[in-house]
Amino acid sequence: MIISMRLGATKEQVDHVCQRIEDFGYKVHSIRGEERVVIAALGIGDVTHCLESLQAAPGVESAVAISAPYKLVSRQFQRERSRVQVDGAVFGGDEFVVIAGPCSVESEKQLLTTATAVAKAGAKMLRGGAFKPRTSPYDFQGLEAEGLKLLKKAREETGLAVITEVMSNGDVGLVAEYADMLQIGARNMQNYALLKALGKAGKPVMLKRGLSSTIKELLLSAEYVVSHGNPHVILCERGIRTFETATRNTFDIGAVPVLRELTHLPVVLDPAHATGKSSLIPPLARASVAVGADGLMVEVHPCPEEAYSDGAQSLTIEAFQKMMKDLRPYLELWKESRSLAVAV
Ligand code: PEP
Ligand code: MN
Repeated sequence: MIISMRLGATKEQVDHVCQRIEDFGYKVHSIRGEERVVIAALGIGDVTHCLESLQAAPGVESAVAISAPYKLVSRQFQRERSRVQVDGAVFGGDEFVVIAGPCSVESEKQLLTTATAVAKAGAKMLRGGAFKPRTSPYDFQGLEAEGLKLLKKAREETGLAVITEVMSNGDVGLVAEYADMLQIGARNMQNYALLKALGKAGKPVMLKRGLSSTIKELLLSAEYVVSHGNPHVILCERGIRTFETATRNTFDIGAVPVLRELTHLPVVLDPAHATGKSSLIPPLARASVAVGADGLMVEVHPCPEEAYSDGAQSLTIEAFQKMMKDLRPYLELWKESRSLAVAV
């Protein structure tokens, strides 16, 4: 439920409403608003009776139920779009954020060469997996703690904020020490114990859509993180499994406007994991800007054919530079439409 207090409602009236919410068995989740106090109440109880009672309470302007199964991440709960700041990069604001880097951190030379080049070409964040979720246990599993140290070094040398994946609860503390943003991979989107731990991780989170997950499931997973204390969440569409075999997955670019209607959380697109093919990245990067995403994540490797993972979908440094240059006119339009949207 969302309870909006009248302008000028007194503290006593707000306290009284909070008490009534608790009396009905709900939890007061948050109270916000500079001008007008808005109270979010979560839980299970007699909604109809509770709403009727609150609507009659002094100082209450309106009390409505949130019909979506996800509450805090819904646009019913928050109309204005969230901004998630990660160091100098702001998702959901007036800048399109490009995240680039190798699939896996492999060596100091590989990471620093890539990081320096992508920073120069306009990326705002560096990606690189230290803990890798591989389909086969015989494939490269990542450099783990050593990889995190290399990411830290790359961050110091380039100033780029770093995002890297965390796969298990036990590693959240360690990864959060090194990363500016924690990535939850597609395979862990419904690892609820991990999602709960991220609520307390103290770092922003990028939640990738599961391989066979619906948008509703994605939003319910985001709700886990937010309801456990961390509102700094961005969503990432990275392709879903369909009958189509021409690409590794099917890029659901329609998820962007759908999510825009359903949630206030920022959305980024990952055409690399969606398609598995580097030649498809530049056109889909342009489409990502055009569809109004908040950012883009791509994989870049100094020598894709030698990559330990995902070489086929990794851009060379030159291809990344070209893609960034070719994106410029699209980014101008993106900025224009963003400022128009803000003005409306
Ligand atoms: C990744 O981004 O490194 C990754 C493994 O992606 P996904 O979880 O989307 O497969
Ligand atoms: Mn990858």
